[in-house]
Amino acid sequence: MKKDLLYEGKAKKVFTTQQPDQLILSYKNDATAFNGKKKAIFEGKGRYNNLISAELFQHLAAKGVPSHFIRAINETEQLVERTTIIPIEVVVRNLATGSIVKRLGFKEKTPFSPPLIEFFYKEDALDDPLINEQHALLLTDAAENELEQIKSYALKVNDVLKTFFATIGLNLVDFKLEFGRKQTGELVLADEISPDTCRLWDVDSGARMDKDVFRQGTGDLMIVYDHILQRLEAAK
Ligand code: ADP
Ligand code: UDP
Repeated sequence: MKKDLLYEGKAKKVFTTQQPDQLILSYKNDATAFNGKKKAIFEGKGRYNNLISAELFQHLAAKGVPSHFIRAINETEQLVERTTIIPIEVVVRNLATGSIVKRLGFKEKTPFSPPLIEFFYKEDALDDPLINEQHALLLTDAAENELEQIKSYALKVNDVLKTFFATIGLNLVDFKLEFGRKQTGELVLADEISPDTCRLWDVDSGARMDKDVFRQGTGDLMIVYDHILQRLEAAK
């Protein structure tokens, strides 16, 4: 089913398939943080992120948010629609933590209501800098109406996932999305949504249940990811 390796990134491999409009995303066990400066391999991470991402894309589809996701084909791989990725990392924040605390001096856990949306230019060589909408129009081929659509989807994803995670005892603090354009021109959610790309805090204990465990070296990342998958599966 897999044809050629199209791209190997930090967390996934991307393969072409017999269908020109479909790709296979193969989730790796590699973990990176601080734009690749900290690295490690965790047995099982690819499986957790593939299965968790699949669950979340399916839940979003049921709530009317279109994505590239077609189906999981095995424990570490999923079939997706091929898109042209818009090179913007869209970050949605409900509470201040991470880079926004360092960059702008917000007090840790400052609530953002409405949620704050930020754009980062997806360009490793520049360390993914924060950009504004005018920069996005100049640096990418995204049109103004597409940026509006991206912001609207980003808020919808936040509403849907915040509610969903709350039902399994997790507080969705912030997350990163990517969007792509299908051959038809339709804009859809792409890439992954997983504990690598979201901050999830246990509602009862406040424990970090996401990649911050690796970033900060505070515990066993795979135990944490296993808890998330178990909670998602119990909620089905
Ligand atoms: P990175 O490129 O940041 O190291 P990954 O290791 O996750 O990230 O690599 C996956 C790559 O596949 C990313 O560049 C992502 O933008 C891209 N991608 C994700 N979904 C699709 C899709 N549906 N069509 C085309 N490219 C995609
Ligand atoms: N994020 C991501 N990929 C990136 C940068 C950030 O998935 O390349 C996610 C990150 O996991 C967090 C949110 O986006 O959920 C906001 O990250 P932040 O800007 O605070 O950066 P960080 O503290 O991770 O450097």
